[in-house]
Amino acid sequence: MIRALSLVLALVPVFCAGPARSWIAEQGRVRIVYEVPKAPEAHTIYREMRARHLLEGLRETLGIIRLPRSLTLRLAECGGEVNAWYAPTTRSVTVCYEFIQDVQSRAPKDVSPTGVTRHQAIMGSIAHVFLHEIGHALFHLLDVPVLGREEDAADQFAALLLLRLGPAQARKIIDGSAFLFASYAGEEKMEKGDFANDHGLFRQRFYNLLCLAYGSDKRTFGYLADRGDLPEERTANCAAEYDQVAFAMDRLFGRHLRSDRMARERTRRGFRWTF
Ligand SMILES: [Zn+2]
Repeated sequence: MIRALSLVLALVPVFCAGPARSWIAEQGRVRIVYEVPKAPEAHTIYREMRARHLLEGLRETLGIIRLPRSLTLRLAECGGEVNAWYAPTTRSVTVCYEFIQDVQSRAPKDVSPTGVTRHQAIMGSIAHVFLHEIGHALFHLLDVPVLGREEDAADQFAALLLLRLGPAQARKIIDGSAFLFASYAGEEKMEKGDFANDHGLFRQRFYNLLCLAYGSDKRTFGYLADRGDLPEERTANCAAEYDQVAFAMDRLFGRHLRSDRMARERTRRGFRWTF
């Protein structure tokens, strides 16, 4: 009886009356939190993301994974910091409203010269950053060994998950997040700090993402090579790069995944909020 009651309670959204008046909901092992921001610009984003069911969609997608412990997905105001991270001590992924504001300021007003819409640039980037941080979270929660830089592995996790959506949706999100990488790359000074950073250079992260996309499906992503976004020297090996990452993903995550058709459908449904 207690178990049944706690299950019911776990499915009911909790309207927290505390000082932050966050909107919190728990379902299964994933807890989602929309913190109510003070800054008016962030408040607009808060309302939009709530209306789009951003965190609910991500939670649905995470339903394909058997999580051994709880995980929190959080949108929060970060005192002006443009950032996103996973904190192992609290098992929480945080994306700052400031990060979304920064993405909005970089997005094209309407459509970029390469055809990326404002909406794609914003929602694609948000999708990618959440999945990158969820990648870190799953390496930790599922005790997944990482060979090589964890930042690269988290990017690969995000890309592979996106590439397993339908081709049309994957293309929109990949194009959107590549737009953000290209924007950051334009500001890279190529100084000592950039090379010493535990993340790859944004220029490299841009090409890595495009190469995995192209390697996954030349028909859907052939335009990346045709218009010269991916240089020929790189395209030659992209199918092998994709296969290597897909092999690692299947080996490392396979036993934690619900692999039935319903689970795959759940991943797609989870991304309804993007487009
Ligand atoms: Zn990271």
